[in-house]
This record gives sequence, C-alpha cells and structure tokens, in this order.
Amino acid sequence: NRRIVLAERPKGEPTDSTLKLESTDIPSPTDGQMLLRTEFLSLDPYMRGRMSDAPSYAPPVAVGEVVESKREDFDKGDWVLSFNGWQDYALSDGSGVTALGRHPKHPSWALGIMGIPGFTAWAGLTQIGTPKEGETLVVAAATGPVGTTVGQIGKLMGCRVVGVAGGAEKCAYAVDTLGFDACIDHKSDDFAEQLKAATPDGIDIYFENVGGKVLDAVVPLLNIGARVPVCGLVSQYNATSLPDGPDRMNWLMGQILRKQLTVRGFIIFNDFVHLYPEFAKAMSSWIEAGKIHYREEIIDGLENAPRALIGLLKGENFGKRVIRVGNT
Ligand code: NDP
Repeated sequence: NRRIVLAERPKGEPTDSTLKLESTDIPSPTDGQMLLRTEFLSLDPYMRGRMSDAPSYAPPVAVGEVVESKREDFDKGDWVLSFNGWQDYALSDGSGVTALGRHPKHPSWALGIMGIPGFTAWAGLTQIGTPKEGETLVVAAATGPVGTTVGQIGKLMGCRVVGVAGGAEKCAYAVDTLGFDACIDHKSDDFAEQLKAATPDGIDIYFENVGGKVLDAVVPLLNIGARVPVCGLVSQYNATSLPDGPDRMNWLMGQILRKQLTVRGFIIFNDFVHLYPEFAKAMSSWIEAGKIHYREEIIDGLENAPRALIGLLKGENFGKRVIRVGNT
C-alpha cells in the first residue's frame, strides 16, 4: 500500500521534499468497515492550504472501488466518492462516502464537473453572482474546472463572458471551444488595458478565483451594484508575505462602498451543500444536451501526484487535473 504523506511544511512554493512516498501493509476491514481501492485522486489548489499549519477547509477527495466489505450498505464492486487520502487502499466506516453505482460511465467526473469544482462554479455564480441577461461576467483561471463551468453557465444565462487565463493556447480554447466572448492572457504586459477594451460596458460580476494583479485590474472596471463571489485566490496560496507597494485596503473598501458592491466569500461545503441535487439535475441535463464542455488532464501514477500538484499551482494544468492511481 503506497501512500504520500507530508514530510515538511513548505515555506512558499512546495518542493520535491514537501511530500514523500512511503509503504505500509494493506489494512483489513473489521465489522462495519470496508476496504477501498483508490482509482482516481483529485488535485485541487486548496491542497496547498492543507500543507500549512493553519485551518483548511477540505480533506482530499478520491474515487475508488470497494474491494472488500463488512458493511450492509456497500458491496464489493461498488464505486464510491470518498475522502481516502493519497494512498492505494483505505479503510472506511462509510462516513462521508457517496455511492457512484456499480459501473459509472465517467467515474472521475465525480471529482470535476459533477463534483466539487462544477458545484462550486454553479453555486457561486447563481447564488452570489446572480447573473442577468446582457450583463458582463469576468472569470479568471478560465480554463480550469471551476472557471470553464462558470463561464459556460454564464453564457447559458445570456451574459457577455470574458475569461482570464495564462497563455494564448488557453485563451484560444476559452473562445473557440467554450464559446466565451473574449479571453485575456494575464501574462501580457498590457493585460489591464486589454481587459478594459474587452469589457466596454464595465463588469457586473467578477467570479474571483485568483486575486493578485487580475483583481487589481478588475476592481476599477466594476459597475455600480456589481457582485463578486470570492471563491479562491490561487495567486496568493504560495505567498509568504503581503505584496509590495502601498497598502490599498482603504482604496478597496472605498470602491466597495461607492460602487455598492456585493463581495461575498463562500466555502462550498458550508454554504450551499443543500443545493447539490438542484445543481446535479441542471448540470446533467446541460451535459446531456451537449451544452457544457469538460476537459480532464489525467496523469498516471500515484508517485506523480506531488509534482502534478506543484505544477497546478503554477498554471501548468490545462483542465481538471486527476491522478489515475494505477495500483496493483
Ligand atoms: P484550476 O485548475 O483553475 O487551477 C488553478 C489555476 O489558477 C491555474 O491553472 C492557473 O491558470 C491559475 N493561476 C495560478 N497562478 C495564477 C496567478 N498568479 N495569476 C492568475 N492565475 C493564476 O483550479 P480550480 O478550477 O480547481 O479552482 C479554481 C479556484 O476555485 C481556486 O482558487 C480554488 O481554490 C477555488 N475553489 C474554491 C472552493 C470554495 O468552496 N470556495 C471550492 C473549490 C475550488 P492560468 O494558467 O490560466 O493562469
């Protein structure tokens, strides 16, 4: 049973010595337990927070198969969504486990479009962003699992959608495949000017995934009454200190006041869990109708998970990054 554990808490960016691979015996279930074999692991930006000595909001999520069961409610061969840790096998007493049936068509989608990222996008946008037809929606990390979903739902709701992504290839995908109206490369020298040109009517909803210089460029363009669902701040997860330059806290508060902005943070597990069935129904029907594109980046081998997470935090992923564990 291979497993990956934290070797040391990172300062700034995680490195090759942050996580280590070790081996243990495969455990045996006792009454009331079952043994799960991990098939797919989700890699998510929030995992950087779990490596710090500070509160974090979610355990790692995985899709696996029941290989032995001493429980009434699950049988050998059932697929489940669970909180396994980064390891080949895990014991479970059933808590926090969601049944995925015996032969799920796309088991890994439970980690992406039908799981936390898809649900986060839908809930943050519909409940806080409250899009109306003709409004302008800006979303950063636009080609990641949350951003792609936010933008595509925005289009379905009649918004003008402007994505922000790292590099020409990602931006072309957002426009050509996802149908966004524009997508701006945040690595361009004139990023702020390009964003302004792409939002001639200002911004009504900014779905915040990254913070940093994207947020700096967005705030002056926000319209009166704009909504900002604060979902994540990836650009800051490896930061070890506050950014250089003048303190802009009071300027930002002034913008919130004068423009009567709604800026609301949310944690999907805490705020909107009761809405999951509504989300699942809407998303399933959009997928069935071919209205939502979903891109996965599957990386083989549990041993490759640490490097894949380090790269995710730097934008090396193109789509939802999933590890196919490949255990024997
Ligand atoms: P992504 O797959 O989109 O991965 C992160 C992306 O962030 C990278 O691919 C990169 O894309 C972008 N990025 C990294 N550094 C920077 C930077 N300095 N400036 C601008 N962009 C940067 O992640 P997810 O779709 O899984 O998650 C998106 C956000 O949603 C995250 O902030 C995450 O923490 C948050 N989240 C919040 C939840 C909640 O309950 N609040 C639940 C789930 C997710 P690019 O190359 O395009 O720059």
